[in-house]
Amino acid sequence: MFELAPLIDIPFDRRHQCWFCGEPSSMQLSYTKEHYTPHPSLMVPACKECFKIAKQHKLTSIWDCKMAVKDELMRIYEKHLAIGVNWTKQELEESEFEDKVFGGFKKSAWMMYEIARDRVNYPAWPLSLNGVPLEDFGYGADFSFDGVNYSSVTQAIKFYAKQFVLDKRFLEDIISIVGKQRFGFAIRVAQINIAATPELKRQVINDLKLENQD
Ligand SMILES: [Zn+2]
Repeated sequence: MFELAPLIDIPFDRRHQCWFCGEPSSMQLSYTKEHYTPHPSLMVPACKECFKIAKQHKLTSIWDCKMAVKDELMRIYEKHLAIGVNWTKQELEESEFEDKVFGGFKKSAWMMYEIARDRVNYPAWPLSLNGVPLEDFGYGADFSFDGVNYSSVTQAIKFYAKQFVLDKRFLEDIISIVGKQRFGFAIRVAQINIAATPELKRQVINDLKLENQD
């Protein structure tokens, strides 16, 4: 017997967005429950690219799947993301390429960076089916990340900040907004903004606060 998985609830202001990255959605990814899946079968709206990636990385839950999609997006758009890691917008504007051709290149390079960054940063809305929120089992549990257990989140932050030479305070601020269950996401945000000015970092924090309000 074949039953279509129910579509998750979609907030009105996100009704055309990919659940994974926020790009316009044109597909629906069906996630079928296996005996170990901590949530019912469901369907999420997705853009073509995330749909393709997600289908190959279903893992053990829709949340793991989402992490895998973000990791893949980061890998695919590594060069675009590096633009923002290596340059600030102002530096790019003030750089030597004054030629009209290069001027166009700079503009589109920055745009590509912003698009890739926003897709990786995009916070998926919390899952619910017919108004009933789905608990994200395991994500609020004792802190372990990437197969490693830490005595506390603080310890993990310390470790990662050192490993990746990240701004520890910035990383802490991000985690305090997005929550420890999204530690990997927080690390990525800190990595993407590794060379950002203090002003841009404040902007990132403000954006995250806004996105995490609802
Ligand atoms: Zn997408």
